[in-house]
Amino acid sequence: MSSLRDAISCVSGYDPDALPVAKANEVIRSFVKPVSGVERVPVRAALGRVLARDIVSPIDVPSHDNSAMDGYAVRGADLSASAPVTLTEIGAAFAGKTFAATVAPGQCVRVMTGAVMPKGTDTVVIQEIAKVEGNRVTVPTGQETGQNRRLAGEDLARGKPALKAGRLLRPADLGLVASLGIGEVSVRRKLKVAFFSTGDELVSVGKKLKAGEVYDSNRYTLWGMLERLGCDVVDLGVVRDDPKKLEAAFRKAAAGADAVVTSGGVSVGEADFTKQMMAKLGEVVFWKIAMRPGRPMAFGRIRGRGKSAYLFGLPGNPVAVMVTFYHFVRGALLHMAGRSDTELPLLRAKSEAAMRKKPGRTEYQRGTLELKNGEWCVRLTGAQGSGILRSMSEANCFVVLGHEQANVAAGDYVDVMLMDGLV
Ligand code: AMP
Ligand code: MG
Repeated sequence: MSSLRDAISCVSGYDPDALPVAKANEVIRSFVKPVSGVERVPVRAALGRVLARDIVSPIDVPSHDNSAMDGYAVRGADLSASAPVTLTEIGAAFAGKTFAATVAPGQCVRVMTGAVMPKGTDTVVIQEIAKVEGNRVTVPTGQETGQNRRLAGEDLARGKPALKAGRLLRPADLGLVASLGIGEVSVRRKLKVAFFSTGDELVSVGKKLKAGEVYDSNRYTLWGMLERLGCDVVDLGVVRDDPKKLEAAFRKAAAGADAVVTSGGVSVGEADFTKQMMAKLGEVVFWKIAMRPGRPMAFGRIRGRGKSAYLFGLPGNPVAVMVTFYHFVRGALLHMAGRSDTELPLLRAKSEAAMRKKPGRTEYQRGTLELKNGEWCVRLTGAQGSGILRSMSEANCFVVLGHEQANVAAGDYVDVMLMDGLV
């Protein structure tokens, strides 16, 4: 296994005290490795899991040429571009039933949507334009050979990969797998992620607050974000700012999980004592990232009881926890889970108001994206302090102000990242 130092040495211009977001992600990505375990599960149980092996289509879908419309199956060669043609109907073909006879020149067959194209035919004339008298069917000009016909294998071709390993299985994929007649798929095992909050000031919900105490909200946001990513989540509770207790918690977490996510204890005031303790546990770096919110962060790999886990030590402020999770941890965990696509799209939206922004750091403001007069517009969700969780709760997007971006004027276009994906 390569070391964190090796991963860092590949990143140009690395400065742990002023690290651009992209560089931090570069280090993280080159260090974390996907887990190898694979499970076979029934198709429905694969929803939201990561496909472990390509699914190669064992059949053509559809398996036969068939009609895309209700109408008349004809021989394209019988049709004329200059005059209507009258054909003799010799029977009807239904979906799921075979039509035995071969259609000869001058003949046609009434077909329903999904019916296999009768032998000899290659074209479907929709019923609305055909003139029918008894078994005589008159087809107007303007038809094209091959129209309204679905070709065998046009959806999925036999022997070709229908789905590639590394994708998140969504409802459409379950249907696609079922359309191949496949009942079980190989998925990556779920990631096991342990998490805990650190801080002497923290109180769990249900207890009374004393002066200076705050409820531990990070354990709820972290739990929610990890669950949404499809991880097996292990809640290790609140750990006091006590080196012995922290060390024990980190060892336990490393022994039982693929990754450990913590909140608090990495800010300038607290990092020194965390650093000393971490040095015993493994290889961990402490960063000041050029971003807002969420500047301090620890990253590395720690050991416990002969096992090891990746560590993401996030800042304690409630918004900073969420921002650093979404922009560093999410992608890393998806990569570990075997996902090949970990990037989220950025969209452009019109900013309703001016925003102050200094070049040289990335900002993740919280915004509401709304359609106004046919245009997507974004405005910020009030005060943007890193302790104001309401700014996250009310938001439906991040306004991502890139590293180089300066002040934004009202009416300028900015990048936004939606908080909800269609998954
Ligand atoms: P720290 O990073 O530990 O210095 O914490 C920074 C700020 O975040 C402090 O004001 C803490 O009270 C607050 N904070 C830390 N952990 C939590 C938590 N689990 N839930 C809510 N607030 C927290
Ligand atoms: Mg703290």
